[in-house]
Parts: sequence; C-alpha cells; structure tokens
Amino acid sequence: MNKHLMLIMLSSALAIQSSPANSATAETAANASTTSTTSSKKPLGTLANNPFATASSLMYEYPPFDKIRNEHYAPAFAEGMRQHNAEITRIANNRAAPTFDNTVVAMERAGQMLNRVSTVFTNQTSTNTNPVLETLSRELAPKLAAHQDQIFLNTQLFKRVSKLYEARSSLNLDAESLRLLERYYTDFVRAGAKLAEADKTKLKAMNAQLATLATQFSQNALKESNAGAIIVDNKADLQGLSDGELSSAAEAAKARGLNGKYVIPLMNTTGQPFEAVLANRALRQRLHEASVARGSHGGEFDNRDVILKIVRLRAERATLLGYPNHAAYGLEDETAKTTTAVNKMLGELAPAAVNNARLEAAELQKLIDAQQGGFKLEAWDWAYYTEQLRKAKYSFDDSQLRPYFELNNVLENGVFYAASKLYGISFRERKDLPVYHPSIKVYEVLDADGSSLALFIADMYARDTKRGGAWMNAYTEQSGLFGTHPVIANHLNIPQPPAGQPTLLTFDEVRTAFHEFGHALHGMFSKVKYPRFSGTNVPRDFVEYPSQVNEMWATWPEVLKNYAKHYQNGEVIPQSLVDKIGAANQFNQGFTTTEYIAASLLDQRWHQLTPAQIPNDALAFEAQALKQAGVDFAPVPPRYRTTYFSHIFGGGYSAGYYAYLWSEVLDAESVEWFKENGGLSRKNGDWFRQQLLSKGGSIDPLLSFRNFRGRDPKIEPLLIRRGLQSGQK
Ligand SMILES: [Zn+2]
Repeated sequence: MNKHLMLIMLSSALAIQSSPANSATAETAANASTTSTTSSKKPLGTLANNPFATASSLMYEYPPFDKIRNEHYAPAFAEGMRQHNAEITRIANNRAAPTFDNTVVAMERAGQMLNRVSTVFTNQTSTNTNPVLETLSRELAPKLAAHQDQIFLNTQLFKRVSKLYEARSSLNLDAESLRLLERYYTDFVRAGAKLAEADKTKLKAMNAQLATLATQFSQNALKESNAGAIIVDNKADLQGLSDGELSSAAEAAKARGLNGKYVIPLMNTTGQPFEAVLANRALRQRLHEASVARGSHGGEFDNRDVILKIVRLRAERATLLGYPNHAAYGLEDETAKTTTAVNKMLGELAPAAVNNARLEAAELQKLIDAQQGGFKLEAWDWAYYTEQLRKAKYSFDDSQLRPYFELNNVLENGVFYAASKLYGISFRERKDLPVYHPSIKVYEVLDADGSSLALFIADMYARDTKRGGAWMNAYTEQSGLFGTHPVIANHLNIPQPPAGQPTLLTFDEVRTAFHEFGHALHGMFSKVKYPRFSGTNVPRDFVEYPSQVNEMWATWPEVLKNYAKHYQNGEVIPQSLVDKIGAANQFNQGFTTTEYIAASLLDQRWHQLTPAQIPNDALAFEAQALKQAGVDFAPVPPRYRTTYFSHIFGGGYSAGYYAYLWSEVLDAESVEWFKENGGLSRKNGDWFRQQLLSKGGSIDPLLSFRNFRGRDPKIEPLLIRRGLQSGQK
C-alpha cells in the first residue's frame, strides 16, 4: 500500500531549537532536590498569573489552554531562558568534581519552565496561530538559537561532560545512563563544543540567522497556501465535486467575503485532492499551477531567496563543523549514517519507480485517447484519469468508500479498537479538560490492567490557522526521572464538513489517522528513565517506522469490519469492497514512489552542496537536480517542490526526507512478522510494545528492531510492496 508521507514534528527536533535538556514538563518538586536556589524561588511578580510559571496542575500536566493568552508567552520565554541559564551556570561552575548526577542528570532536569512554554508555543503556532504569535515566533527564533548555543558552547560545561565521557567505562553506569552520557557528549561535539572561540562566534551568528530564516520560510509557506486558494465563479465549473464538497467550497468562499462564489483551498502537497474529481481540465490545470507556484511567483512571501540563504548557511556551518556538507552532518546522527548509504538507496530505487510511473502514464494516455481527449497527459490529469482507471480495473472509487469512513467511527471503532486488541488499552473521553478549539477531543488512555496511562488529544480538522499535513507531538513526555505520564496529540487536516453534515474521510485520511496514532503509541508506551530518550526521541529515519506499521490495521479485516460502517444505515462495508481495496494495493505505486523519491532526491541535492556550489536560481537548480537524478518526468512532479518543502526548510527534516522510505524497510518487515504470527493479537502487540515501542531512544534503535524481529532487516518485503523488484537488478 502506498505510504503516507506525513510530517511528524518530532519533539526532539523542536527541543533541539529550544532546550538541550529536551525534557518533558516536570514536577517542580522533583527539581527541589537539586542544588538549585533559583528554580525553587517563587516566580517573578510579573509572572504571578502566568500559566507557564509552574507545572500545570491538570492531570499529567496537561496544558491549561483556557488560561493561556498571547501575552503570557514572551515573559514566560524570558524567564524560562533566565532560569535555564542560571541552572546551567551552576552546573558548569560547580566546584565539586563532575559526577554523572551533578552534571548530566542535572542538565536533564534543567530548563523545565522553558520546556513548558516552548512545547505549547511551538504547537500553538502550528495548530492555532495568529499574527501576535507569528511576530513573536520571528523574534524568538534567533534568541532560542542563541540560548542553545550558550549551553552547548559553554567551555566549562563541556569540560565536565568530556571528563565524564572519557571515564565512562569506570563510572558503573547502567546501560541507559551510559547511553545518556554518550548522547550528551555527542550533542555537545555536534553543536560545535570543540571549535576554537573565533569559530564558535561565527557558528552562533549562523545559527541565529538560520533560525530566523526557517521561521520566515514556514510563515511564507502558510501564507502562500492560504493566498493560493482557487476562487471559482460558476458552480458549473465544479462538476465532479460532491454536494458536501460544493457546500464546503461555498462556505469557504463566504468566510472570505465572497458570497455566491466557491473556494478550493490548497493542501500542502504538490498534488491537490480535487484534481482527482474535477472534470473541468482547465480548472484542474489552474489548481495545479497555483499549487506548484507557491513561494516562487514573486511578491512578499516568495521563498526562493530564503531557500538560497538557508542552504548556503547550512553548507557553511557544516564546513565549519568539519563536514563536507549539511547532509553529511545530519546523516551522521541517523541510522543511515552516510550520504553514500542514502544516495545508494534512492539511486537504486529511482529508475524502477520512474519506469513504473511511465508504464502507468502510458495506460492513462490510452484512456485519454480512448475518450478522444486529444491532449497529452499532464501532471494535472494524472489523478483524474487514475481514478477512472481505478474504477475500471477494480470497479470502485474513493467516493464509494467515504460513506463508510465517518470520522468518529474511524477513530473510536477503528484506530482505538485496533490498539485495544493489540495492547489491551481502553479509552475514556474527557470533557473536563480545556481545549483550544471546540472541535478537539481529549481521551484518557487506560492500560490493560485498568491503570491510567496517558492523555490523548485528537485535533483532526483543517483550519486557516493550522499548517498543512499531519503530525504528532508530546505536550508531556513520559520519564521515570520525573515520574511523568505522556500527554500526546495527533493533528490531521481533514476538511470541515458543511454545518450539520458528518465528516466522511477518504481512505488516505483513514490511513493517516492510523499512521499518526502509531506515533502516539510510541509516545504513550514509552517506559524510559530519561526524558532525552522518551517515546519518539529516536533518529528521524527510525521514527516513521512504528507509525507506518500501525497503518496495517486500517485494512485488517477484523478492524475494518468494526469501524467501516455506513454513516446512514450502519451497514458494514461489503466484503467485495474490502477485497477491492486489498487488490488495488499496488495500484498507482509508480506515481506514489516517484513523487516521493523525487522530493527525497531534491532534499539530498540541496543539502549535499558545498558553499562554493550554491546556485543563484533555486528553480533552475531544482530542474537540473531532478534531471540529473533521472526523476524529471513532468507528469509526476516531486511531492513537494523546493519553495514549499516545509519538512526540509521550515521543519526538522533537512537531509532527512528519505527517512520515510528508509523506515519503510523496517515497517514492511514488521508487517510480515505480524502476519506470520497470527496478526491482531495481544501476544503480538505486547511483544512489539515491550521490545520496541516502550524503548524510545534508550537503546540502539536497530538493536530494538533486531530484538523484536529476531534478525537484521531485509529490503525485499518493501520492494515487493512497492512493485520495485526490478530496481535491484
Ligand atoms: Zn509519521
């Protein structure tokens, strides 16, 4: 089945920008045992009513969304950074000889207020933003980068960490503690701790500029997506849209003061969902061109120069840190390790994927010709004729499935049901906890023995104030050190149905819901001591693995029958339709794999440049890079083009977009394992949870896979799944 290449905004990726302690919100009481005098002080006068001043008193330190106002953030950030600095200074200047506890664990405990405010702020700017938060975000980005540098480039502090690191084999540390020490040492070195003072100064300036540019890129991307929405005057042009979609488009127009017109909003990917249904070819073309033009058609929010500045600075920073390029720097910390390994995988799979896409294109052209279309297949025709072909081949299309995929059913009787069968957990809706938007639901998650495990926030709908894509985040991370329970959120972008109508999902959206919940399980089942290793704090090219595995339950017959019920009459989805979904699994895989690989290759090309190789023209470079990589097949453009590729320029996936395919090797292997062992059962779920989901980053990720699977991964199941077997010859 084609994979959902969705963004998970890793808490680790975020925390790297804010707090090296990377810690979950934690009880103040736990911190009182440290040598701190400042952190046990009462908050400053101006912070007396600031909800970030102390840990939330709500269950599991769930954020008090009803009390948080725009004006609380700036003072909380200022005080959070001040406290954190004071804590770090005390650790660095401690006269006592360094010990694991007074140095590494002390750092792990530090920065709690900053962590509290930055966790909520980052998520609010992603899900519920406003002009005040956007301005603050631009102001804070360089300050937070400087704050991080002040810690990692602190000479005294690094001396203590180094001393411990060199003596690590004689410290009698347990395995997780030893790993934490090694992790901190690596974090320091990678952040530039070994550089000469003059170079440290240069590095700080680069980091501050990069933080500002990434924020600018993201804000431009959101504004361009909103501004790029297509306005349609006549209903007749919208043939192919369902009544519900028409009403939504009319309401979206009304919301913009365009009564009587229709608005089609842009999703974050190159391909737009309505391209699959709009019969009007000119309108499909308009929609597609609006999508690909984002960030590159001039005006205030053009991202072309921003990108060139970002890649130049990243390349220069990598050089300063002793790496040939930014990708080499980034990949060193991933399970892939080297650009050679990533280039090899993408390079081997690309020709087979493009070949498959060309075969698919030929079939689509045949269909166009048979209908006397009289035109050559273009990118904006692909989805439209693919849907027709799907209908012809498998006699079903997405619109037949939607009545069976009502949102609440999908979530509670599908996603939750599968997790209950596998792990014995159960869910209880909590209406007493405050939410930041009325459409959001909160659940308490109970473990198999009935004890309370976590809180889960489901934020499923698209809004103009929310960035595109789907992702998971942790508001509170599990940790034994602080005794914290997880508070985990999933975010999707399902279009709001017209008033009074049910929310009916596409199959892609169903799969995304399962995918994101796979990340949620990774966060909720975490059972580690240190926050640094909690849940999804694992390499990027490993983190997509558990979430991808969880997608398998979306089509598992026992699960499907439990949730896929017609919203009007409750009738279970007919077996014939279920069989068709299964049979169509490899359909359109050439397209899906090619658009993904093209984006991954773009990411690598941009980030494998040396400073001397930075081009002057972003779009020309993009075209040339796709051509050189052999993926410049016009009907299948990259899933994201450079100027709206937020994963790599705005988020934490730079040089890391390949991670989804890399993780999929482990995913495909694990799906095989579940099938070989009887599928959906407590025994299988518990084993996966125990060996993998609970471990977070506390052990080597590939070792946890080996412990789970009983051997090293093989690539064959992935090649079969994506129809890429020929790529290996
Ligand atoms: Zn994901």
